[in-house]
Amino acid sequence: MFRCNIRGQQEALSVLDRAVSSGHIAHAYLFIGPEGVGKRTCAIEFAKALNCQEGSCSRGCQGGIPCGQCPTCRAIADGNFPDVSVVSPSGATIRIEQVREVRRSAGLKAHTSGWRVWVFEDSDKMTEEAANALLRTLEEPPPRSVMVLTTSNPFLVLPTIVSRCQVVRFGHVSLPEINAILTERFDLSDQDRELFASLSGGIPAKAIRLARGEERQARERALDLLRKIGTRDTLEILKISESLAEDRTSLVGYLEMWTSWYRDILILKETGDTGLLLNRDRQEEISGVACENSTDKLISAIQILQEALNALRQNANARLCMDSVLLRLDRLLGDPRRKEN
Ligand SMILES: [Zn+2]
Ligand SMILES: [Zn+2]
Repeated sequence: MFRCNIRGQQEALSVLDRAVSSGHIAHAYLFIGPEGVGKRTCAIEFAKALNCQEGSCSRGCQGGIPCGQCPTCRAIADGNFPDVSVVSPSGATIRIEQVREVRRSAGLKAHTSGWRVWVFEDSDKMTEEAANALLRTLEEPPPRSVMVLTTSNPFLVLPTIVSRCQVVRFGHVSLPEINAILTERFDLSDQDRELFASLSGGIPAKAIRLARGEERQARERALDLLRKIGTRDTLEILKISESLAEDRTSLVGYLEMWTSWYRDILILKETGDTGLLLNRDRQEEISGVACENSTDKLISAIQILQEALNALRQNANARLCMDSVLLRLDRLLGDPRRKEN
C-alpha cells in the first residue's frame, strides 16, 4: 500500500498505490495538476515509499507506507538522500546543465540498494535543449530508477516526453477537504476558516497561505487597485501595471483575486444568494457594485482576466499582458463621464 497524508487526491494516490503494491514501477511519471495541490509533496512521499526501511509490506515486497521516521525517510525529507534529487527551475527555466548533471549521476552506480528517484519540478519550464537531453535518459532509463516530472502546464511539455511517462492526474481539492486541512493545522474561527477555504479555489497551498496571513495584504492591495479601474486615468493605470509586472510570480494571484471579485458580483447579481460568494467578508461592497454593472460587462471582465491568466501561464510578457488587462477593464467598466467630473 502506498499512503501519504495528502488530502483529496484519491485518483493520483491509487495509481501510485497500484504501482507500489504490484512492484510495477514505471520509469517515468508525469504528475499533472494545478499549482499548490501537492504534486511535489506526493513525489517526495513516493520516493520515501520506494526506499523506506520500515515500509516493506506484509507480503515482503518492496515499498509501502513511508514511515517518515527512519533515517532514509528523514534524509529524503531533508534533501540529503543521495539517490533522491529534486530538480527545480533555476530562475525561469530548467537548464541543460541541470539535466546533464542528472544524466551524469544516472550513469554512475547508485549509492544505496533502493530506488533512485529524480523529481523535476515544473518540468514545463525546461528549455528545449534540456527537454531533449532528458528525453534521451527517458529512452534509456537506468535500472531501478524513477523520474517524476510535475507540471501545471502539461501542454507545454514536449509530447515525446509525455508519451514516455505514465500520467498521474491531480485535481482541485473539495471544500470539505480544505476545511479539514485548515482545521488540522490552524486554530481559526469558523468564519475565517470558511472564508479562507472558499477563497482558496480548491488549492490547499493557497488556503494555508491565507490562514498564515501571507495573502491578506496582497488581497487587500488587489481589491484596492480595482477601485482605480474605470476611472479612465490611463497614466495612473499604466503606472499600476508597471509596478505589478515587476513581480511576475504574484501576478497570477492578482488576476485570480480579481476574477473571484467579478465572479462574486456576477453571482450576486444573478442569484441574490450571498451564501455563494467567495469574498464573503466583502458582501456589502459587492452588492453595491452589482447594481452598477451589467451582466454582459461582468462576463466580459471575467473573460479578459481568464485570457490574461492563460497568456501568463504560457509565458507571455508580463508587462504587456498587464497593460492590456487593465486598460481593457478600465474601458469596459469605466464611466466615460467620470474623468471630466
Ligand atoms: Zn521510513
Ligand atoms: Zn506487497
